[in-house]
Amino acid sequence: MKPIVAIIGRPNVGKSTLFNRITRSRTALVDNMPGVTRDRHYGEALWNDAPFLVVDTGGYLIDDEDAFAGAIRDQVTQAVAEADAVVMVLDGKGGISPYDRDLVTILRESHPKVFYVVNKIDGERQEENLYDFYSLGIEHPYPVSGEHGYGVPDFLDDLVASF
Ligand code: GDP
Ligand code: MG
Repeated sequence: MKPIVAIIGRPNVGKSTLFNRITRSRTALVDNMPGVTRDRHYGEALWNDAPFLVVDTGGYLIDDEDAFAGAIRDQVTQAVAEADAVVMVLDGKGGISPYDRDLVTILRESHPKVFYVVNKIDGERQEENLYDFYSLGIEHPYPVSGEHGYGVPDFLDDLVASF
């Protein structure tokens, strides 16, 4: 079975944009996989000859921050139960929110393999936005732009090397 990578994070950080970039398709959805939750977006991905499945969790069921606050543990619990790796997306433009801190804490307790991606870093000049995120205790935040592709190859190299 292909490794499953769950993309999590609060609304509007860019989960779906990153999902679309990694899968390069909105239509390559997997419907009848045993053992996977149906009401979420699954997409096929391939990087460095390594096939994997990507899950866009929560974001399209939970589209505002209040609902997100209530659903945060469910979202993470489900992602953790099913995923071989978790990608937590942070907003490199909007900065850190308390929800991010909660999520990082939960992940630290629950999943061994988490990649922290700071999205909306659209080019080298915005890399300075990365430094705030070290306050979350993240050792290796990946600067990426889901929209433009910046940093995504380096992130994917490390992701698939972890399978
Ligand atoms: P989600 O709610 O986490 O799935 O976030 P979306 O993927 O829907 O993106 C939320 C907003 O952020 C949209 O307006 C996107 O255009 C914008 N966005 C997403 N990725 C990037 C990025 O890499 N750079 C910039 N500048 N904006 C982005
Ligand atoms: Mg979304």
